[in-house]
Amino acid sequence: SLRIDENCINCDVCEPECPNGAISMGPTIYVIDPDHCTECVGHYDTPQCREVCPVDCIDLDPEHPETPEQLQEKFLHLTGQA
Ligand code: SF4
Ligand code: SF4
Repeated sequence: SLRIDENCINCDVCEPECPNGAISMGPTIYVIDPDHCTECVGHYDTPQCREVCPVDCIDLDPEHPETPEQLQEKFLHLTGQA
């Protein structure tokens, strides 16, 4: 999963770009639900939120490291294919 850090300026540009609906406004800044973020595996070649974030505040979440295989598995699960 990816993670949004404290430099987020709440611009809301990333939220509509997420193919998994994993991004939402949290208590103070935008947050990514690690159960729904596939790092865009299954949908796009690159993480779409990172592509559009104007302040580059989205990075890998060290608390939720996943292999490409695990991300693919999550994609299949979320889309009802597994
Ligand atoms: Fe959504 Fe992709 Fe960003 Fe994860 S990496 S939060 S799936 S846009
Ligand atoms: Fe925050 Fe970046 Fe998303 Fe804007 S695009 S809400 S700055 S994480």
